[in-house]
Amino acid sequence: MPASQNPPEKMMFQLTLRRRGISDQAVLRAMEEVPRELFVEPADRGDAYRDSALGIACGQTISQPFVVAYMTEQLQPQKHHRVLEIGTGSGYQAAILSRLCSQVLTIERYRTLADSARTRLRKLGCGNVEVMLGDGFDVPEVAGQFDRIIVTAAMEEIPEALLQRLEPGGVLIAPVGPHHGTQTLVRVLRTEAGFDHKELVDVRFVPALPGIAREL
Ligand code: SAH
Repeated sequence: MPASQNPPEKMMFQLTLRRRGISDQAVLRAMEEVPRELFVEPADRGDAYRDSALGIACGQTISQPFVVAYMTEQLQPQKHHRVLEIGTGSGYQAAILSRLCSQVLTIERYRTLADSARTRLRKLGCGNVEVMLGDGFDVPEVAGQFDRIIVTAAMEEIPEALLQRLEPGGVLIAPVGPHHGTQTLVRVLRTEAGFDHKELVDVRFVPALPGIAREL
C-alpha cells in the first residue's frame, strides 16, 4: 500500500502539524491532499510523512513539512491571488499553493528539477502552476506583479527588485541570512508607505544562487 493510503502515518502527519501550531484549515487540507511521497526520491518514500527535509536531485532538498505549512500559513494566500515562488525544487510547495490561490509561477535554476517538477505537477492536475527555468534574482519583467512571493532558498538579503514585484498590500516570505548556517524567516508586507519587515522563526534552507545552473 502506498504511504499516502496509510492512515496512521497520515494521521500522525496532520497531528504533528497541528501540535506545532498550524491551525489554518485550508492549509491543513492542502497538506493532507498533496501526496508528498510523489515529490521525494523513490528510496525515501517510506519517510515521506516524517517531519523532516529530504534530499532531492542536484544536491537540493524538499523542505520539512512543518516549514512548508508554516510558510504557507504566514503567506495568507487567497483564492484570487497570483503567487511567485523562487526555488521550485521538487514542486511540493508549489502544489500546496496551487490549491490555495489562482495562479502560481515557480522559478528554478536547475533544468533537471524544473523539468521533473513540471511533469509531476501536470500529472497531479495542478494546472494553475507554471514552472519556469530561470533565476529568481532576475525575474522577467513580463511575469508582472504578484500578490504573494515565497522564497524557498536562503538569501543574504532580500533584493529590492523582488520587493518591487509585490502588489500593494502584498506579502513576501523569505529565509534571510548566511548561506551556510541558520537563517531567519522574514515576512514583508508592502504598505502604502513602504515595506514592513517582521522576523518570524529560525530556519535552514539551501542557498539561493544567482544565474541558471550550468550543470543539469
Ligand atoms: N520549494 C522546494 C524546495 C526548495 S529547495 C520544494 O517544495 O521542494 C531550494 C531550491 O531553490 C533549489 O532547488 C535550488 O536549486 C533553487 N534555487 C536556488 N537559487 C535559485 C535562484 N536564484 N532562482 C531559482 N531557483 C533557485
